Amino acid sequence: MADKSFTFEITSEISEPGGDRLGRSGVISTPHGEIKTPAFIPVGTKATVKSVLPESMKELGAQALLANAYHLYLQPGSDILDEAGGLSKFMNWDKPTFTDSGGFQVMSLGVGFKKVIAMDADTFRADDVIADKKERLAHVDDEGVTFKSHLDGSMHRFTPEVSMRVQHQIGADIIFAFDECTTLHNTRRYQEKSLERTRLWALRCLAEHQALTQSRIGKPYQALFGVLQGAQYEDLRRKAAKDLGTMENSGIEFDGFGIGGALDKSTLGTIVKWVNEELPRNKPRHLLGIGEPSDLFVGVENGADTFDCVAPSREARTSAVYTNTGRFNVSNGAFKRDFTPIEEGCGCYTCQNYTKAYLNHLFRGKEILAATLATIHNEYFIIKLVDDMRKAIDKQEFFEFKKDFLGRYQAGRSQNA
Ligand SMILES: [Zn+2]
Repeated sequence: MADKSFTFEITSEISEPGGDRLGRSGVISTPHGEIKTPAFIPVGTKATVKSVLPESMKELGAQALLANAYHLYLQPGSDILDEAGGLSKFMNWDKPTFTDSGGFQVMSLGVGFKKVIAMDADTFRADDVIADKKERLAHVDDEGVTFKSHLDGSMHRFTPEVSMRVQHQIGADIIFAFDECTTLHNTRRYQEKSLERTRLWALRCLAEHQALTQSRIGKPYQALFGVLQGAQYEDLRRKAAKDLGTMENSGIEFDGFGIGGALDKSTLGTIVKWVNEELPRNKPRHLLGIGEPSDLFVGVENGADTFDCVAPSREARTSAVYTNTGRFNVSNGAFKRDFTPIEEGCGCYTCQNYTKAYLNHLFRGKEILAATLATIHNEYFIIKLVDDMRKAIDKQEFFEFKKDFLGRYQAGRSQNA
């Protein structure tokens, strides 16, 4: 069995006179190196951050990357990553990697997520609104999920065991348990039923993970994170955190936790707080799919350690760039003759070497270099923002930093809008 070379240590905690704060800084150690937390983990869905070299991602400060098990299972096939020596070797990235379980993707398939999830026959009527007028592309039952490939329409089935096998073949340092992802539109009754299903799947994931860890001799240790669902309900969220936080099967526990599922902006902080009040303090917590500056502050403040999101790269490809004074579209006509960088003083490769006028020209000319340069700036910006939160926590200045940053960011945002 591989050495359990995965640890998490807390460095500092956010404290406030009379306050009871959950936020902290720390270090996650994996077989491919350390991640200082809080940290933003850029998404490389198909083992590539679109349009950017892995070397550039390293240079701009990424400590780890997250790929999607669902996409890599369909193409090129997780067996090919296994043969290549794992995700990190395959994509020439020698730092830590994460994969998500495929649960969110098999149930959402990337398009119209909140509209296409189909439910069991017996609950389908109550939750009919979700599949209304849309083709049902995934079917969930107690054993697993049957879904149609978005690539060629072929039928596939994911179970907790399949997800574990796929993620072991891909070989990321941090992998996630297979969960059912519900939406805010499901009925309370469905959420309860789904939460129990996810709990039973978590037990199966632990057993399969342990069997794979023991049988795949000589492979680097992979840490398994349990995923917490429960939508917007306090009792369900707290129950999920208690259940998975104390869960043990085949002699092992989860190495960390992912906070998943339906999270809307207005309740994000409250939900993260509920679960982190219940979870064991000494294990890392990953907030799935969150990357907007104000949401990152809320997540860090309430005790989330790592974050991933496609937004910085996806928005970059549409010419939307982040700055300390808000976001703007660099393809806007106003920047045609603007020979200054996206942001004065920004340390990224793009701002060090290129002007808004040049990016404006690339976007308008539909040149692929536009995506590369804009993505480098956005990923640098979001990674540095979370790095700066970590430094502020270590100096006990988190709230001053938050107030200062959001004051400028939001004021500029209304100006730019
Ligand atoms: Zn920049």
